[in-house]
Amino acid sequence: MGTEVEPDPASQAASQLRLLAQHFTQYPVTGRTGTRRATAATPGTPLNLTVVDHIRASVAEVEQHTRAAAPEAGPLPAEAAAVYEWCRSHTAHADETVRRRRDTLIYRQQLEHAIRLGDTTVVRRHRCPGCGTVGLHWRQAMQRAVCRNQRCRAADGGVSAWTLAHLAHEHIEAQEVRVRRAT
Ligand SMILES: [Zn+2]
Repeated sequence: MGTEVEPDPASQAASQLRLLAQHFTQYPVTGRTGTRRATAATPGTPLNLTVVDHIRASVAEVEQHTRAAAPEAGPLPAEAAAVYEWCRSHTAHADETVRRRRDTLIYRQQLEHAIRLGDTTVVRRHRCPGCGTVGLHWRQAMQRAVCRNQRCRAADGGVSAWTLAHLAHEHIEAQEVRVRRAT
């Protein structure tokens, strides 16, 4: 313990995106819009289309963030999964706020991809932002991680539930505190 090296969220997100593209689509999904050949798609597969939409939306979000910080970034890489490295290389010298938002975004997408791939256990490694205990579980219908602690409640008395965006924010913040302490 303590020496455990956290896997790099960007390379994890990239390999997950690659997996999603491989498992759920029968054609290459590229980062560029309009280059997907519609004729190669099998008709009547809404699940696949949803995954394609998910991949596209993810790439578009990363692209938007990158271009806002680095308008000279140039064209997207041909492969969707390469978008994370593209983003990082173009924002490497951006200010702290941009880099923090980028890291939070990539981390959140990594959680989203994992859940898409069926691994909802990714939320368990986060402490509940409300009570600090370990015991979050994913509730698909709510699209949120719910705390198992009976005494942990939302302000309105309802179940304590957190978005992936919130968990990602907390995770990156905690990571920064650890880095600051270590240096
Ligand atoms: Zn809680």
